[in-house]
Amino acid sequence: MRQISHWVGGKSFAAYAGDGAASGGASPEAAGRFGPVFDPATGTQTAAVELASVAVVDEAVASAVAAWRTWRHSSLAERIRVMFAFRELVDRSRDEIAAAIASEHGKTHADAMGEVARGLDVVEFACGIADLLKGGYSESVSTNVDTYSLRQPLGVVAGITPFNFPTMVPMWMFPVALACGNCFVLKPSEKDPSASLVLASLLAEAGLPGGVFSVVQGDKVAVDRLLEHPDVRAVSFVGSTPIARYVYETGTRHGKRVQALGGAKNHMVVLPDASLEMAADAAVSAGFGSAGERCMAVSVVVAVEPAADELVSLIVDRIRDIEVGPASETSSDMGPLVTREHRDKVASYVAAGASEGAVVVLDGREHEAAEGEGFFLGPTLLDHVTADMSVYRDEIFGPVLAIVRAASYDEALELVNANPYGNGAAIFTNDGGAARRFQHEVEAGMVGVNVSIPVPVAYYPFGGWKASLFGDTHAYGRDAVHFYTRGKVVTSRWLDPSHGGVQLGFPTSS
Ligand code: NAD
Repeated sequence: MRQISHWVGGKSFAAYAGDGAASGGASPEAAGRFGPVFDPATGTQTAAVELASVAVVDEAVASAVAAWRTWRHSSLAERIRVMFAFRELVDRSRDEIAAAIASEHGKTHADAMGEVARGLDVVEFACGIADLLKGGYSESVSTNVDTYSLRQPLGVVAGITPFNFPTMVPMWMFPVALACGNCFVLKPSEKDPSASLVLASLLAEAGLPGGVFSVVQGDKVAVDRLLEHPDVRAVSFVGSTPIARYVYETGTRHGKRVQALGGAKNHMVVLPDASLEMAADAAVSAGFGSAGERCMAVSVVVAVEPAADELVSLIVDRIRDIEVGPASETSSDMGPLVTREHRDKVASYVAAGASEGAVVVLDGREHEAAEGEGFFLGPTLLDHVTADMSVYRDEIFGPVLAIVRAASYDEALELVNANPYGNGAAIFTNDGGAARRFQHEVEAGMVGVNVSIPVPVAYYPFGGWKASLFGDTHAYGRDAVHFYTRGKVVTSRWLDPSHGGVQLGFPTSS
């Protein structure tokens, strides 16, 4: 069985430990725990991923600490050159990276290519970091005294990422962190660990010195060690809300800067004046793309009456055209879910919806693709869903779209704002005034106006409100520069003949 391991010191962990580098290589107890990695399209186990022990995490952090002694003095020019080289390599390797994603996640090749492209956007943003790292300078703030500000890297920072975007979410984090001068330890999801190693080897090929970027594969053991490790200064996390809350609370208790992005329940409000054809296209794309395993997936369509009947019928027409199949077939629009357990959990929500009184318009459990060994489920549409049902309350993270019918815009807005999550929210309308009111009133971090997946471009930060984010800063954009650096203000005076001798009073400007 193929084994997937860590990346430490600029090489695969076996080679690194063989060098006897850092503290003498991996300790004997480092080996031993493995997790299964599946091809979700066939349901077969294709590899075993090593699950890092505390000793392995310590090796990775030690190599990052050693590397930072030099990397912290690297010039902006050097760091930017690495980013440009990395950008070229990722661009040339899109197919290889997408194949690695699809083989373990199950998403279609086109979807995986989209993920790589959105990650690349942040790499390109990081290529322009010089402008964002500029400080301010004030001359003569007092007689012969100048003041200027700097932003400096934190040191060793960590990223803990979810299964659903095995390259894009890491690329939300490490390009900016590295360009700012930090060393980065990535703990990807144990469900689809291979793509992170492709990125690691491309960073090395781009000229990044060994130790500046490491990958530790693993589970809670690795996460907990990163959260407690005294040499890790900051942690970026993306995943489900309960774990995000845990990571935020544990990391901050250990004195770290933490940003933890959590789960979502994204609503798409459709007003009766909207183009219902366009809204139906958007709802189906955003509801079933990547089999609903996106934190920005639309999981609830709020149809404001009298639009509901016509909108549901247009959505049904479109869902019937979705081709469910493996990533290896170009005709596939939607792949399998990531694991058997997850597929079964999503299916159990369809059953719960039916028993709680939702109308099951289309039942994904009955789709022919769901009969094989792969972790497939067809698309499900539930109508007449109400706010007390578990299918409405919980994040399902699968191909299940709920329709809630609302009598008015106010009722729709109240529903969206009462939801504990606040990641994305969209409105579909041709009324500019209604759209403007919605963007002003809705409690969500990312808002779409006739756009169902309003993921910001790389130079605007990505993040939700309420239970979708713990911490103060969002991912990428200027927020990331702020998160991965510390501010310093220098006040300087150079001796000149007017120097006035000892003054014990508190310094004031003169
Ligand atoms: P998850 O929370 O199960 O796992 C995320 C990471 O945490 C993984 O690296 C995992 O190994 C680790 N982890 C899991 N359980 C842990 C525990 N008990 N203690 C410590 N670490 C633990 O999330 P997932 O299933 O991989 O990803 C799907 C979730 O991520 C969904 O809820 C989705 O909405 C969310 N997500 C959010 C965003 C966003 O930007 N807000 C983006 C992508 C995904």
